[in-house]
Amino acid sequence: MTFRTRFAPSPTGPLHLGHAYSAILAHDMAAAEEGEFLLRIEDIDHSRSRPEWEELIYEDLHWLGLSWPEPVMRQSERQAAYEAALDRLWERDLLYVCTCRRRDIEAAASAPQEGAPLLGPDGIVYPGTCRKSLRAASGPRPRDAVLRLDMAAALKALSANGGGKIEFCETGSSPNGASGLTQISHVHLTMLVGDVVLARRQMGTSYHLSVVLDDAEQGITHAVRGQDLFETTAIHVVLQRLLDLPTPIYHHHRLIRDENGRRLAKRDDARAIRKYRKDGVTPDDIRAMVGL
Ligand code: GLU
Ligand code: ZN
Repeated sequence: MTFRTRFAPSPTGPLHLGHAYSAILAHDMAAAEEGEFLLRIEDIDHSRSRPEWEELIYEDLHWLGLSWPEPVMRQSERQAAYEAALDRLWERDLLYVCTCRRRDIEAAASAPQEGAPLLGPDGIVYPGTCRKSLRAASGPRPRDAVLRLDMAAALKALSANGGGKIEFCETGSSPNGASGLTQISHVHLTMLVGDVVLARRQMGTSYHLSVVLDDAEQGITHAVRGQDLFETTAIHVVLQRLLDLPTPIYHHHRLIRDENGRRLAKRDDARAIRKYRKDGVTPDDIRAMVGL
């Protein structure tokens, strides 16, 4: 199997040291295996993505000494594939419209009989308020609606087809240091992940759906990314099973933190690669700073 990985930044701000670590690590792993390193621009959030940030991503990565095949995949050009996948799931009655606002979800999840709200990979685990709503599976899928995956129904459908085993191979580690074959139980998925959003308004897709479809489209064999995304992998494997897509090997890496132990954020301009470039820092210095 050829090794093919990718770096998938969102053009919503400058790349910082954490992005540099992720990109260089993926690039080095591909080089060591004589594989391929691809770039993908994750720009589904039109309200936050900017062409200037996308340009800066190319500049910074080239400056770091990385290269990748052209053309680069851009999620804003992939809407048709996302819509087709949503249609498939809708027709199987695995999606429903959610009309809750954030504060409705917070209120429902913290009702006295619910105990403390449970936190999943996307925040508060959705309490299921809209699950039994006016789902009209026979009708067409509504456009510009929030669509959630009915997790319990999805797992039931997978089990009925003998595909209910949700697992992946981890060659990096979870935030707790676990690696190897990672199995996720159905109880964990229904109780601690829940009915995640697969289509957002004004986006027509979601991070989870896009990343799964795009990794498959790009033939990614090894997904190298930060440990902050480890918990989302369970969702990605469920979607891969539902959409008959292969599951890559995952390599979740440590996060680069500031001197207070906080992970770097896009607004943390002091550690932006462009700032280091202006200050005369070299790409080798950057490698040393992130421990590569
Ligand atoms: N676009 C995501 C991010 O910037 C990365 C997605 C992934 O690697 O799966 O955090
Ligand atoms: Zn709802």
